[in-house]
Amino acid sequence: MDIQKRSKYCHRCQAGLTPDAHVCPYCHEKQLTAFENATADIARAIFPKIFPATRVIFFILIAYFILVSADILLHPSYGLKEALLAPPNEMSYRWGAHVRGQFVWWRLITANFYHFGLLHIAFNIVALKYVSPYVERTYGSAQTFGAFVVLGSLSMACSNLLGSSGIVGGASGALMAFIGMAAVAAHREHTALSLEIRNSMIRWAIFTVAFGFIISFSGSMGIDNIAHISGLILGILAGFVLPTQAMAGFDRLWKIRLSRSALPIALALSIASFVFMTFAGMSQKHQTECIANIQHKNFAAAATACEQAYHEDPSQTISYHNFILINAINGDRDRARKLCAEGKQRFRNRKEPLSFETICQDLNR
Ligand SMILES: [Zn+2]
Repeated sequence: MDIQKRSKYCHRCQAGLTPDAHVCPYCHEKQLTAFENATADIARAIFPKIFPATRVIFFILIAYFILVSADILLHPSYGLKEALLAPPNEMSYRWGAHVRGQFVWWRLITANFYHFGLLHIAFNIVALKYVSPYVERTYGSAQTFGAFVVLGSLSMACSNLLGSSGIVGGASGALMAFIGMAAVAAHREHTALSLEIRNSMIRWAIFTVAFGFIISFSGSMGIDNIAHISGLILGILAGFVLPTQAMAGFDRLWKIRLSRSALPIALALSIASFVFMTFAGMSQKHQTECIANIQHKNFAAAATACEQAYHEDPSQTISYHNFILINAINGDRDRARKLCAEGKQRFRNRKEPLSFETICQDLNR
């Protein structure tokens, strides 16, 4: 037998196989296709060798924090304090934090990557550094990144649906999901060492939840307890459902395929969300120009900016309000009335502080 050809191993029984073997002759397990092996090789070449998901998550969180801080610092009204300790709400909103009750789907994803200052990101990174490698060792890198994005976003969704008003962001929903996943995996492994890990995860969970409640009741800082608790519950559920691997990797073909599919899904969701955020930011730019020009009585410039903002995001009542206002100011009352009727129809089921009824009545006077 040609030993040179034995360059791969069966994932199930670890027997050496020829590179072109489709089925293992010893345990009859189907093998990965050449395409699947090639894409895995590419992924391995791109990402860090050790704990790639954990490192990529850290890199994104820190790089994003630096980017946001730089943007706040460059803003004429803000300084170092706002950039590092207390980001203003408008900047948090621009950079993807979500507002409870608004339920913008892409914000549930971008909010996981957004942190409110240095203390917030430092706490989450220190905790993730402790928990994430264990999650990654047990569930694999693709599922770890997938769980960060998907479970983090679902915990944001719970916070959006159940929480009182407020602007929310941070990786702690995903962190709590990791703690839940790690605790369940350690419990299932059931060795003396893993049970020790399980107990320390339970201590982390209790500490983080209790810390959140104490801080909330002291009123010094907004802590998203709903995201924490729902993240933990989601992580525990995922821990029972998701396939886990041994030292040699996943032992069945379906487990390898299922776990790997988490990476493209999470990447696509994240990239799409940041694209939506960028477009929303561009629309906000015109909205800001529109408002500023009205305030400074540059009505011609305002007309252009307000019209652009209206075309870019007609799903917001403010786009209508400003565009109606500038048309009324510039004397085009017919167009203002038409927009009023359009807005009234479009937002008929929504409760807004400034109703279309009031604006439209003023125009007909
Ligand atoms: Zn085999």
